Amino acid sequence: MSVRVRFAPSPTGFLHIGSLRTALFTYLIARSTNGKCILRIEDTDQEREVEGAVESLIEILRWVGITFDEGPHVGGEYGPYVQTQRIDIYNKYTELLLEKGGAYRCFCTPERLKEMREQQRVNKLPTRYDRKCRDLTDAEIEKKLKSGETFVIRQKMPLNGNVIVYDEIRGEIHFDASNLDDHVLVKTNGIPTYQFANVVDDHLMGITHVTRADEWIPSFPKNALLYQSFGWEMPKFVHYPVILNKQGGKLSKRHGDVMVEEFRDKGYLADALVNFCALLGWHPKDDNEILSLSELEKCFDIKSIGASPATFDADKLDYFNGYYIRRMPTDALLLACLPYLINANLIKALDNDSFKIVKSEKVVGRAYLEGIVELEHERIKRISDVVDAVDFFFADELKYDPNILLWKKMTTAEVKENLTGLLKILDEIKTDVWNVHALEGIIGDYIKSLGLNVGSVLWPLRVSLTGRKASPGVFEVAYILGKHETLKRIKGALDLIQ
Ligand code: GLU
Repeated sequence: MSVRVRFAPSPTGFLHIGSLRTALFTYLIARSTNGKCILRIEDTDQEREVEGAVESLIEILRWVGITFDEGPHVGGEYGPYVQTQRIDIYNKYTELLLEKGGAYRCFCTPERLKEMREQQRVNKLPTRYDRKCRDLTDAEIEKKLKSGETFVIRQKMPLNGNVIVYDEIRGEIHFDASNLDDHVLVKTNGIPTYQFANVVDDHLMGITHVTRADEWIPSFPKNALLYQSFGWEMPKFVHYPVILNKQGGKLSKRHGDVMVEEFRDKGYLADALVNFCALLGWHPKDDNEILSLSELEKCFDIKSIGASPATFDADKLDYFNGYYIRRMPTDALLLACLPYLINANLIKALDNDSFKIVKSEKVVGRAYLEGIVELEHERIKRISDVVDAVDFFFADELKYDPNILLWKKMTTAEVKENLTGLLKILDEIKTDVWNVHALEGIIGDYIKSLGLNVGSVLWPLRVSLTGRKASPGVFEVAYILGKHETLKRIKGALDLIQ
């Protein structure tokens, strides 16, 4: 039987990193087995609809590289793929379940339930439905229905014994039936809860493996009993391990860094997120941890998913991101950097190939910008880092503390002397031979001929050109700035220490 798995998110308006891991594992199970990956929107439990949530969910998953064979956006034979469009289907199965004795109507009012819970609390009993309506006679039910009393549908749980279920990762799990609540399957408004809709849909959609986060393990016996009541064959169940932060706590929005959209906006690459998430609870057999989506599609396997908690290590994500950034060709790097440079108002795009530097109004081409971002290629961890790393290139006038021009114990007079000397020799270089090699040679000779310390010349030069103590190679910077701007910045430094 060919594998059919589903990713079944509730559309909240953003994608949690844990849900991305669920989506990714599920997608990889489908792709590695030549199976089908289905997107099902579970929107029955939602208080209110988040506008555009489904579209943005599909969009962010597409950005990551996760695609579906069936779903609301692509159709398929098992639709509709949005639960609120399946209410008629659920109604039919509610009737069937009532007939089969797997559920019953409960007419208890919210007031009575509140009071019941209060009593249970006072008596230190577990708060659960006291099963008052479980054994109503047909006549009693008929009467209540006739008089228009509203009701919910509750699952009829066994009163004792063990419910034994099998998880593909954990093996057998035993539940004491006496701890199971006769919980609500269908609310008074006829809308099913997760527990009901999920099972009905998984069955009707021919799902072979229910793949979900392990927070759903408590639902497992309820689901198994539903399959039993319907007389349906159970799919396999795979519960992915929980993801904890480094302190062993739950990942939470408050601690930032859980929304995939935020990661994307900060300049994390899809490749890095995929690689990182794939290792949250799964480990490749050969220990090679650098894996692209297409490699994962080949080697992923359920058996190598672990049961113990996975740790969300942000440093590891940065490591992967840096790794994938370094492997980008320069043109792709620039393409990724452009939105950040434009957003920071350093440049404006004029057309596809020309850009205006906002401060100087100089028009530059792609090659010029590629030269700049390439200088930081090895260093940046997030694409957004590029802004701070290269903004000095786009400045009209650098602002910095003149004291940082002084290398070690240099005096202002020495800095002045070295920069004046530099200004003179650089001025003599013809523009057509203004390149890294020539600059390196000429400045090197100048240092040697005067017997100067390298740092006493290159340090003030770096600060004059960049306004900072650390920067990419100073010859590369001077080359990109060009002769005119380089001389202008050295003069600017000299003015500062007058
Ligand atoms: N709608 C559930 C969620 O949002 C899906 C759980 C499942 O995959 O069964 O997590």
